[in-house]
Amino acid sequence: MYDVAVIGGGPAAMSAALNLKIRSKNFIILAGTDEATDLSKAPNIVNYLGINNISGKDLIQTFEKHLEEMGIQKKKEKAYNVLNMGEYFTINAGSNFYDAKTIVLATGKAKTTLIEGEEYYIGRGVGYCATCDGPLYRNKTVAIVSENREGEEEARFMGEICSKVYYLPLYKTIMLESNNIIVLKGKPLSVVGDGNKVTSLVTTEGDIDVDAVFFIRDVLPVSQLIDGIELEDGSIKVDKYMATNIPGVFACGDCTGKPFQIAKAVGEGNIAALSVAKYLDKILE
Ligand SMILES: Cc1cc2nc3c(=O)[nH]c(=O)nc-3n(C[C@H](O)[C@H](O)[C@H](O)COP(=O)(O)OP(=O)(O)OC[C@H]3O[C@@H](n4cnc5c(N)ncnc54)[C@H](O)[C@@H]3O)c2cc1C
Repeated sequence: MYDVAVIGGGPAAMSAALNLKIRSKNFIILAGTDEATDLSKAPNIVNYLGINNISGKDLIQTFEKHLEEMGIQKKKEKAYNVLNMGEYFTINAGSNFYDAKTIVLATGKAKTTLIEGEEYYIGRGVGYCATCDGPLYRNKTVAIVSENREGEEEARFMGEICSKVYYLPLYKTIMLESNNIIVLKGKPLSVVGDGNKVTSLVTTEGDIDVDAVFFIRDVLPVSQLIDGIELEDGSIKVDKYMATNIPGVFACGDCTGKPFQIAKAVGEGNIAALSVAKYLDKILE
């Protein structure tokens, strides 16, 4: 059982981790599989105090070097779901499960735009982790809509157990079709069903009959990651201690809303870690 599970791999998560280490907490960082933080896209940063004129990539390296020096390691794993078990939380990271007393969410800009029908059919054929739910669709037809390469692995896995897999990459890829995997060009428009389960996916290139649709996104919809979390203007609602409405769950960085800036992410990561330390000390009293 960890004291804390930090979910995210950007500046907010790294700052939270650094401060948790200083406070001698036992924690895990699930940094995502691709580690592509928004920061890696920043060409030239001039507004981060003390480090002028630096690219996002170089700043990440600077942050990572600091973590390395402190003996902190990030796990290249994505959290798909956080279950509230009452006294603690269980995090589903695909093939691994972790238990932690508290959670720090640092997942970057919140994703809230779902396609029509997607939310209604969550758990009724719509999923976000094919490897987790795949066995439910043995010998069936599924579609995988992916924003990144992670989906290719999921498609190959599903190809082994499903009768047909439609793969819709929303990024440039040279992934070749194989056996029962069909790569399609269309963009998804809506998920359609009979009220109980998914029956088809409507795309810009036509409809496909499917039993399930998996969306592999850079950032999961927050409501899918953790049930019952309160949002405000599409971002996670926090108080000045970075506490969310769920006791033991804290959030920091872009996922709590504007301004989307590194200094804010780092500052909030610091506050979240200190608040977690205080919270843990209290539950131990
Ligand atoms: C082009 C560009 C230029 C920018 N320039 C500047 C600038 O000059 N100055 C400035 O202050 N800010 C700038 N920003 C904004 C800055 O990059 C962000 O504010 C900052 O990176 C936010 O940090 P974060 O840790 O909250 O989120 P992110 O950096 O987005 O990191 C979130 C991380 O969480 C991971 N993650 C998401 N979901 C999960 C999950 N379920 N499980 C595990 N991991 C997950 C992601 O893979 C990612 O690694 C720029 C952004 C962009 C896109």
